[in-house]
Amino acid sequence: ERRPDSSLRLNGLSVRFGGVRALNGIDLEVRSGEVVGLIGPNGSGKTTLIDGVTGYVKASGTVELAAVRVDQLTAHRRARAGITRSFQSLELFDDITVEENLRAAADKQDGWAYATALFPARAQAMPAAVGTVVETFQLAGVLDKQPKELSYGQRRLVAIARAVATAPAFLLLDEPAAGLGATETAELSDLVIRLAKEWNIGVLLIEHDISMVLGICDRVSVLEFGEKIAEGTAAEIRKDPRVIAAYLGT
Ligand code: ADP
Repeated sequence: ERRPDSSLRLNGLSVRFGGVRALNGIDLEVRSGEVVGLIGPNGSGKTTLIDGVTGYVKASGTVELAAVRVDQLTAHRRARAGITRSFQSLELFDDITVEENLRAAADKQDGWAYATALFPARAQAMPAAVGTVVETFQLAGVLDKQPKELSYGQRRLVAIARAVATAPAFLLLDEPAAGLGATETAELSDLVIRLAKEWNIGVLLIEHDISMVLGICDRVSVLEFGEKIAEGTAAEIRKDPRVIAAYLGT
């Protein structure tokens, strides 16, 4: 499952909502195999950054995948090109099984327009890529269940597994640990590290659980009011005075 080396680079990414400047000239790079954290107070522009990179909102500036500009592509094509996201709201199909959710993702590899793939998918043998995802996420026991029958923590895992089933080069996770307990968060951390280090996926991790971020990220960027105010290793971020003032507290 190891992916070829690549990079995802943002240059001067900016997003406006009417008069509100939600994101202002952000430069950021994620390389294959890295986990890069994105933290900042509520409303600082983290989700907007993912929306801008994936094409869900209109942004100015450039987005390059493997040194090729993708910022003029539709969200659908960026997903096909290998930039996949998860949503805070999960966006799982609740009335089909976990297996169908995964297989539709793997078959279409187009992010989120899964529905049309569901019926043909059912008749085929499970693609190897999905088998690997099932194994990695330990979902064999719940494949025949519908997401609505699962615990909250399991549903969050399935949502990430589904993103991984699209075979992304880059995975943008929007608060994957929200609502998870300590044990589940630790398991999720291990999974994210495996996806980066074993599968060579580049991960951009938005997360409020600051100890998770500082614990697993190779580098961390900090946003405040749509600006990047700091960037560095977890150790550097922990002692950055601007970060402490803006976000970490005393
Ligand atoms: P974060 O993810 O860091 O909490 P967001 O990216 O959600 O922050 O929001 C950044 C800013 O953009 C906030 O001021 C928010 O109110 C604004 N914003 C986000 N989405 C929209 C939208 N669709 N329309 C208008 N303003 C928005």
